[in-house]
This record gives sequence, C-alpha cells and structure tokens, in this order.
Amino acid sequence: TQQKKLGLTGKILIGMGTGILFGLLLRNLFPESQFLQDYITDGILNVIGTIFISSLQMLVVPLVFISLVCGTCSLSEPSTLGRLGGKTIAFYLFTTAIALSMAIIIALLIHPGNASLAAENMQYSVKEAPSLANVLINLVPRNPIQAMTEGNMLQIIIFAVIFGFAVAHIGERGKRVAALFTDLNEVIMRVVTLIMQLAPYGIFALMAKLALTLGIETFESVVNYFFVVLGVLLIHAFVVYPTLLKAFSGLSPLLFIRKMRDVQLFAFSTASSNATLPVTIETCEHRLGVDNKVASFTLPLGATINMDGTAIMQGVATVFIAQVFGIDLTITDYAMVVVTATLASIGTAGVPGVGLIMLAMVLNQVGLPVEGIALIMGVDRLLDMVRTAVNVTGDSVATLVIAKSEGAFNEVVFHDTQAGKTTG
Ligand code: ASP
Repeated sequence: TQQKKLGLTGKILIGMGTGILFGLLLRNLFPESQFLQDYITDGILNVIGTIFISSLQMLVVPLVFISLVCGTCSLSEPSTLGRLGGKTIAFYLFTTAIALSMAIIIALLIHPGNASLAAENMQYSVKEAPSLANVLINLVPRNPIQAMTEGNMLQIIIFAVIFGFAVAHIGERGKRVAALFTDLNEVIMRVVTLIMQLAPYGIFALMAKLALTLGIETFESVVNYFFVVLGVLLIHAFVVYPTLLKAFSGLSPLLFIRKMRDVQLFAFSTASSNATLPVTIETCEHRLGVDNKVASFTLPLGATINMDGTAIMQGVATVFIAQVFGIDLTITDYAMVVVTATLASIGTAGVPGVGLIMLAMVLNQVGLPVEGIALIMGVDRLLDMVRTAVNVTGDSVATLVIAKSEGAFNEVVFHDTQAGKTTG
C-alpha cells in the first residue's frame, strides 16, 4: 500500500510535467492552428479538465454539510462550539494580517512599480464587491436548499452547525441521526479517494490546456511584480507557516509539509480552494490526524474566509499600482488596505480569479485607479495557482493548531508517515 499512495503524488507530478510539455510542444509545432484550438485546447483537454474539476466540486456541498453535521453533533456543549469558532476566526485573521503586512513591507522595500508602465492602454471593469452589511446579512440562509444549490459556503456552515447541534440535543433519536450522518460521511470520503486516483489525468489536461493558452506577452512589463508576489508567497509557505506551526503546536513542520504535497498540487492545478476542499479534509483527517469535529468546521470556513496567498497578492499589487501611478500612500492608507483586504476575503469564496475582484475593492477603498488591475491581469493566472496552494496550506496549519489546542488531534497518525495511505 505504501507504493500506491507514493505513486499518487508521483503520478500527479508526472501528469503535470507531461501536460505542460505536451502543451508547449503542440503550441510550437502548430502555431495558430485552428484545428488545435477547436479540437484539442477547447475540445478534448477542456472536456477532461472540466470534468475533473466538476467531479471535485460535486463533492463540496454534500461533503461540507454531512461532515459538519457529524462534527457538530459530537460537540454537545454550545460553549465548545463558540470557543472553536472564536479561536479559528482569530487565527485566520492573525495569519492574514501577517501575510498582508509582510507583502506591503517587502513590496515597499523592493519597489517593483515603475511610472513608465502607466502609459499603457488600460481597461478593467469593476465587478460588484459585497459590502460588509451584506456579508453579515447573507450569513443566515433564507433557504438552506438554495444555499446548497448556490454553493454558498458560509450559509451552509451556519445551517449545518445549527442542524448538528439540534441532533446532539434530542437524545436517542439524535443518536440514530448522528449514526446515519457518520455512515454517509464514510461514503463521501470514499468517493473523494476514488476521484483522487483519477487526478493525474485531469491534471495532465489542465496543465496542457494552460500551456497551450497562456500568453506571456504581458509578462515583461510586470516581471518585478510577478517575482515579488512569488517570493512573498514562498516565504509565507516555507518560513512563516512552519514557524507558526512549531510555535503554536510544537509539531514538526517538515512532516507537515511532506504530507501536504498532494493538497498543494490539487490547489495549484485547480486554482480553487473550494474545489480542493475534499482533498484538504481527507488529508487533515486521515494523514495529519485531525479529528473530524475540528476539521469539518475549520476547513470549509478557511476555504471561504482565509486566503493568505490572495492577501499577499493584494498587498503587493496595491503597492505596485500606487508606484506605477506615482501615488503616495500614507501609513493610514496601508492600514486601511490591511483591514479592507482582510474583510474582503471573508465575503468572497475560494474560486479561481476571485482575488482580482477583491483587489478592486481594496483599490477603491484607498482611491487607487482600478484600471491598474489591467496591468497585472496577464500574470494573474499563474499567481492564482500558487496563491491557492498557499491558501489551503494556511487553512491546514490553522486546523492543526486549533485541533492540538482542543485535544482533538491524534499524534500517532500525525507521526505515522504511512497514515492514510491505505485509504485508496
Ligand atoms: N483562487 C483562490 C482560491 O481559491 C482565490 C484567489 O486568490 O483568486 O483560494
């Protein structure tokens, strides 16, 4: 069985590598070929890649609902739930604030923006960003079924928590319901592991399509921006998170990073924290040893409100755009950026490209020209992939820290390098 799971990470990497090579090869052999475009890029690769992402997304709503009901009905005390919620949100805000501050400071020091870029022809239309009042109002679903059809994560979480809580409080009958949900949870987790086995093919298609379509013409003018964002993302993933994990839980960062590889590869290739959620939950519960009652709550919440990677992009982008347009921002403005970007991340779900919409909100707040987004749009697809991997890593670090502090953590599973590898 060891070989099997090692095989999965290996196969995913092979899928990725061959996908990129295949895409680049076709692109160079048949430049501008309409046939290639119609039948390969938009044809077969698109079909396989989209089916792969859909099959992950297919699981998200039932998984979050079922698993969270299971988790909540094992927390019989309302105070436990309140404490868990408070700690989780506090930790998420804390890491996001670190990410933003670091991004802003590093960008100010390196100064990636150059006024000569501003002359380029720019267009970007702002999409609606949610207001804080609406975020609050929309926490409670008017119709839970609608919340599920729309995949509104925060509403599903609220409904599942209330539902699970009631299950825990109706005695014998509640036990039957809880047992049913526990069984259903097993079923869904089984589907997750099945779909994970197909990932190498899906990821091959996604990467090949990316290599065929990615235009890097705009790259040159924003190369500084690109590398500053990338650098801060890597520092956050490989320095800040390991330090926080060690400081708050005493657990081995190396083991953590090693076990997170599959999750990060999924996040990277789908560019969606939401679509990756089934894999994140599977890994945290079965490989890192986090109890379902913590993971089922912190991870869906994190996929929605905790986006440190996205925050980093927004911090660097704000500084970059201010520099390009020759606008001086004050310390207060930067503090404003930190607050707005943190709040913006709460109201928007983890799906591809949403970071740019949140950025528009932040730029508006400090009076920077939103057209600046047009500048960085060309490289956003690549950065989106990397920052999504950072986002899911952040959710998992928080989950481990909270689980450890709640005693909802199995140290033996965490230290067992083979744990969870037999689930497939
Ligand atoms: N794609 C990111 C995520 O799903 C969000 C973003 O930065 O656009 O976490």
